[in-house]
Amino acid sequence: MAEVSQRASILSFVEARHAVENHATRVERAGIEFVALAESQGRVLAKRITADRDYPPFHRAMRDGYAVRAADLAQLPATLEVIAEIKAGADPDKLPKQIAAGQAAAIMTGAPAPAGSDAVVMVEYTCSENGRVTISRGVSRGDNIAPAGSEARANDLLLEPGIAIDYAALAVAASVGQENVWVYRRPTISILSTGDEVVELTAHPGPTQIRNSNSYSLAAQVRDAGGEPHMLGIVADDATALRERIVEGLAGDLLLITGGVSMGKYDLVEQVLTEVGAEFIFTGAEIQPGRPVVFGRAKGTYFLGLPGNPVSTMVTFALFAEPMIAALGGGRPRPLRFLHARLKSEVRVKAGLTRFLPGVITGEFAHSEVEIARWQGSGDIASLARANCFLVVPPDRDHIPAGEWVAVMKK
Ligand code: AMP
Ligand code: MG
Repeated sequence: MAEVSQRASILSFVEARHAVENHATRVERAGIEFVALAESQGRVLAKRITADRDYPPFHRAMRDGYAVRAADLAQLPATLEVIAEIKAGADPDKLPKQIAAGQAAAIMTGAPAPAGSDAVVMVEYTCSENGRVTISRGVSRGDNIAPAGSEARANDLLLEPGIAIDYAALAVAASVGQENVWVYRRPTISILSTGDEVVELTAHPGPTQIRNSNSYSLAAQVRDAGGEPHMLGIVADDATALRERIVEGLAGDLLLITGGVSMGKYDLVEQVLTEVGAEFIFTGAEIQPGRPVVFGRAKGTYFLGLPGNPVSTMVTFALFAEPMIAALGGGRPRPLRFLHARLKSEVRVKAGLTRFLPGVITGEFAHSEVEIARWQGSGDIASLARANCFLVVPPDRDHIPAGEWVAVMKK
């Protein structure tokens, strides 16, 4: 993995991503807090969740039908005496004591299968009349019954710390009665925009000024990644002002700086970071957009310097900031995975960089197709806003013909 150093280094995309993932495994996680289950969606679980009892807690019928002894259906059709009707939630003291040979009980999905029964015949294969049921299909022992404890035993581990609480995890926690859950605190992510030309969106921009959009896109991406944005506003391309604000930002769990990392005379971010004692892990990645991206650590806090072009800012966030925020927030490291879709029209680029081009996926089911969004370069946010993915072009390709399966990253 890339060593921390004072010297500049430009890594390939894969090396840069792995460097971030490796450093992400070393970060100190945020503290933990106890939140209402209903408020926990998207948070990272901090303490294990175990089964409070066996699941299912009783032999549970999985179909509406008749609880029977499978052996009674050796000869078909078979007619059995119906001795009870068992509803879901039935009082256990009122269940039949035993289903004897030649007997059956009408039973509903979710109801406890009575003693003596060993299978449930679906109602579709039965015909009942005058307290008797005639069954036209055989069953094997165990059919349509989930035995007590077959899904989990009391105290079994159901959810491990580090998982993001999604709808399914919420259901698990609810099923074992966890009204509240322990989750990791959201890490505080400082966001600093730089540039003499950048003004707040409430300002009336002069002819050569542009409004700050990066702080807004970054705050949204930070929230999506599980962080809490801490807005540091805009700072001019002035070393003293920049230094003051960078030091302030390093008090958070991660500092994101946009702009000022290119090769221009007033791109001062690297210089100022060096002055505050930064160690650089990389000072560029062979990607487009986003080549000048910078990753390092200063005063014990990791930082990312993201190029100011709005699309570059968004792409480099997705590639490099997301794993850091996930790790700071207690999440498990997640490798970057791409989907695949068929390329709709050919792509020609210069080889040498891994490209993440705003794309549009269309089609459905197995017939997804992707094409590059009409795009005017790294400043074209409107085109990215209309796109729904990034088409990934590997560095060794300068031409991809239409019809080829290509890698796609979700937006
Ligand atoms: P830089 O990375 O500082 O060279 O900036 C590259 C381009 O991104 C320039 O055209 C900037 O005006 C633009 N830019 C920089 N910061 C922002 C921002 N916060 N919001 C929108 N555009 C920005
Ligand atoms: Mg700038």
